[in-house]
Amino acid sequence: MNPPLRVLLCAPRGFCAGVVRAIDVVETALKLYGAPVYVRHEIVHNRHVVDALKAKGVVFIREVSEAPPGGAPVIFSAHGVAKSVPEEAAARNLFTIDATCPLVTKVHREAQAHFKRGRKIVLVGHPGHPEVVGTMGQLPAGAVTLVAEVADVAALPFGAHDALAYVTQTTLSVDDTREIIAALRARYPQMTAPPVEDICYATTNRQEAVKRAAKEVEAFVVVGAANSSNSQRLREVAEREGCRVALLAASAKDIDWRLLEGVKSLGVSAGASAPEVLVEEILDALATRFTLRVETVTTATEDMMFPLPKALREGTLLPAGGEKPPGGADEGRR
Ligand code: SF4
Repeated sequence: MNPPLRVLLCAPRGFCAGVVRAIDVVETALKLYGAPVYVRHEIVHNRHVVDALKAKGVVFIREVSEAPPGGAPVIFSAHGVAKSVPEEAAARNLFTIDATCPLVTKVHREAQAHFKRGRKIVLVGHPGHPEVVGTMGQLPAGAVTLVAEVADVAALPFGAHDALAYVTQTTLSVDDTREIIAALRARYPQMTAPPVEDICYATTNRQEAVKRAAKEVEAFVVVGAANSSNSQRLREVAEREGCRVALLAASAKDIDWRLLEGVKSLGVSAGASAPEVLVEEILDALATRFTLRVETVTTATEDMMFPLPKALREGTLLPAGGEKPPGGADEGRR
């Protein structure tokens, strides 16, 4: 007889509206234009999603320079891109579709508006993350200064009379960011804040649910990829709330089961780029080792939905020159 395990399943968890939209953009492009469809970087940070799209004819590339001329669509990922990327694509006459999450675009617009008003911009975010690269790349080099942690605030070169504003990455830890912002505001009271929080609803809601569940369990499994910022933050939240084991697992295969020996209560959540099928797979794997009693911890209900880009929705988005590329749906290859 397997030992009992109480599982607290967080809600909301998994896919957010931005990820659903980005995947829809790629699948709609495949239907409208046929394979291959090129996607710059992982469309979302999840191997399962990426592999499923590869099997349908999506080719993932690192830079637009890898996309051949000829009209096949090149899609930009949900994380957004620096301005130089669509500029390079336009110079090469590539047909591009932007799957940037509208909540990332909102941060881009904020940064641009601050810049127009002559403010120096501080971006709170993780160095090297694609979203950070994209946000910094909305403005000329030097216009945006990155701050990753509280200690960075003391090193900022600005003075008490500089016009300043901050924006943040959308997928940060709500608690860490609060501390960084408090340090920024203490040093620069004149600093302009975003009109609405930049950390997105999905990040905030998933962290809140993990926080609630983690108080009641010994261990936590977050389903998500190691390069997924919001999944990493969920694991950290569980650890901070006192879970003695807090794991990030891309799939059931990644779980070191020895760490869960003797555990009687376990929280489960999933990052915004992790499909529900992976949560189910992990619950199935748990069920082969434990007798499960699953309860749901609901801290918010989500109904956010982002429509596809209008032209894609209406099927009127055409490659440069106005012709559908060879291999498109109309030509019977799909
Ligand atoms: S995590 Fe937030 S910002 Fe990122 S894609 Fe999802 S909704 Fe958009």
